[in-house]
Amino acid sequence: MPTSQIPMEGEKDAAAVPRCVGCGSPVQRLYVQYSPGNIRLMKCDKCKAVADPYIECEFMIILIDLILHKVEAYRHLLFNMLYLDSDAYKGVLQSSVLAYIFLDAYKISFLNTATLDFNSLLSAIWCCTKILTGALVENFLFMLFILVGLEFVLKLSYNIKRYREVMSAIIISSYLKLFLLSTMVWEFPLSVIHIVNVFVLSSNIVALRVVTQSKISWCVGICCLAHGARILIDHWLLELL
Ligand SMILES: [Zn+2]
Repeated sequence: MPTSQIPMEGEKDAAAVPRCVGCGSPVQRLYVQYSPGNIRLMKCDKCKAVADPYIECEFMIILIDLILHKVEAYRHLLFNMLYLDSDAYKGVLQSSVLAYIFLDAYKISFLNTATLDFNSLLSAIWCCTKILTGALVENFLFMLFILVGLEFVLKLSYNIKRYREVMSAIIISSYLKLFLLSTMVWEFPLSVIHIVNVFVLSSNIVALRVVTQSKISWCVGICCLAHGARILIDHWLLELL
């Protein structure tokens, strides 16, 4: 008797339903497993293509397609690889939030290297406090702009679950921020920070489009607005430090 990785209907809520990576339609299951290592990929009822061919791909292939901003890879990541509301998803989210706040704090200190004063313990503590506060404020306002933009455009009627889905997608799709870790090891020009920001912006646009299924123009507008606000906050912090 073949088994499936998707429980029967009723055991999971709608958010856990996998999607076809080609058309985005919900599918009952992605594959049927006959024995360990012996699976058959299921087809989508709507587009008749294999629902998620990434299941058989190495992680590097998925990562390359994510970097290339393929919508199919984002659907695999957000709907099929990390089920919304699953424990794995929550764990990845919590780790990502902590990592991003740390990296944003590092980015602020990187942009203000010349003006930071770490000569005494007190001034170092004061600088770290300001940098960390700046990173928290920056991320809070960024997410607020995204949600306000969505409410204005998509009329989510203050649906908390939809908000969480969007916030999760934005957080997960900001994975390119991790590239900032390399600037801790190797010396890079300041422009690298801006290049990373542009890649994060484009990744956020794709993720927003995937999770909301709205027009690309709206997603571009909302993400550009939120990232613009983030840049203004960065400049404001630059003057404060
Ligand atoms: Zn399909």
